[in-house]
Amino acid sequence: MYSEITAAIQSTKTAIELVKAAHGLSNYSELLTAVTAVQIKLTDAIASELASQEKQAALAERVRELEKQIAEIEDWKSQLQRYALFQFTTGALAYALKPGYENGEPMHYLCTACVDKKKKTTLQPQGRFLHCPECKTDIATEKSKPINRNSRGSSWMSV
Ligand SMILES: [Zn+2]
Repeated sequence: MYSEITAAIQSTKTAIELVKAAHGLSNYSELLTAVTAVQIKLTDAIASELASQEKQAALAERVRELEKQIAEIEDWKSQLQRYALFQFTTGALAYALKPGYENGEPMHYLCTACVDKKKKTTLQPQGRFLHCPECKTDIATEKSKPINRNSRGSSWMSV
């Protein structure tokens, strides 16, 4: 691009010099040739500059996209830093809110399957399970108790 612009400027100088030298019409055809050459070179330089501007705009857009992606990853990382992988006695895993990172929120767990998909889903307690409202996973947090210690005395026991 720069070489074309430099060439165009050089041709312009040549044309100006020819104009200065042209006291009459004797140099007219030479002048016309020089002017035409300048026009061609300028057209090429402008076309090249436009292509370059398009490339620059495309690159700038790509940079913006990547910066946005990086910001999202950074944000996700900082959000996830508040949690640590926790294993329940059943062996089931969930991300538990780390002590000191509450930010006024009550203790809660995140679904590991959802975290793997970069989704922050808070698990909801359902009996001895934690239920994920997003992917419908049930995580057993306590081992099933022996029937005789079930204080709720459900009707299914008599079946
Ligand atoms: Zn989930």
